[in-house]
Amino acid sequence: MHIWTIANQKGGVAKTTTTLAFGSLLTQRGHQVLLIDLDPHSSLTRSMGIAVDPPPVGTLALFDDNPPALADLALASPRAGLDFVAGQAGLATLERQSASKPGLGMALNRALATLGDRYDYVLLDCPPTLGLLMVNALAATSQLIIPTQTEPLAVHGLNSMLRTAAMIERSRRRAMPVSILPTLFDRRTRVAHETLDGLRQQHPAALCPTAIPVDTRLRAIEHVLGDADGAGRGLTAYQEALDWLLCQPVALESAA
Ligand code: ADP
Ligand code: MG
Repeated sequence: MHIWTIANQKGGVAKTTTTLAFGSLLTQRGHQVLLIDLDPHSSLTRSMGIAVDPPPVGTLALFDDNPPALADLALASPRAGLDFVAGQAGLATLERQSASKPGLGMALNRALATLGDRYDYVLLDCPPTLGLLMVNALAATSQLIIPTQTEPLAVHGLNSMLRTAAMIERSRRRAMPVSILPTLFDRRTRVAHETLDGLRQQHPAALCPTAIPVDTRLRAIEHVLGDADGAGRGLTAYQEALDWLLCQPVALESAA
């Protein structure tokens, strides 16, 4: 089972869109996929059409003293082969409890271990904050994907994310392959091209050669899940990015 964490300590960089697009594209390639919404804002859950008030049962329950089996929390999405675990606003309060409850940092790891071979890929959609939830995801992941908006300020978010990943990689004593995915690329602006060139120079191996362009069709969940007519520029770019990710030697090494 491959576990991919989609994270960046910055909001609005297309983490959730990337999780949904890769998840759906992986099912088109015949894989069984589980998405886990770790974000208290629950964008992934909402985009699947689930009401968040009252909160649906899901990710938060994994942090209970006697958590349910992760597979029992999976909900079916409109796309065959694609399940998801719903997020709740209450996830935000977890960060405050973590000091008083040791062991919470590995709760997700323990939950994933109960899945058996039901899923080929589990994709973790992270909140934009470095806290217990992101630590859980990074502790468990076989691969980290950092969506990075192609604008100068976003590069700071990338650098803090890379520092966090390196810190957790050291403490878990297991290699964490990292890929950087340029997102929201506006090819009409010079600054987007300059940012992309800068990223290429700084991270020649980790940077995905395909940038995901700005494409308003990606705002619609049906389109991201591939159910609308025609792929469009954005989704085609996600397909190319996925091809690249799946060919990465690091990705193969980390296959469990
Ligand atoms: P995050 O999870 O990092 O906060 P989202 O995936 O929710 O980011 O994306 C933020 C906003 O940008 C959403 O409204 C989403 O629909 C939109 N968006 C994401 N990627 C694209 C894209 N390539 N083109 C246009 N809009 C996009
Ligand atoms: Mg999000």
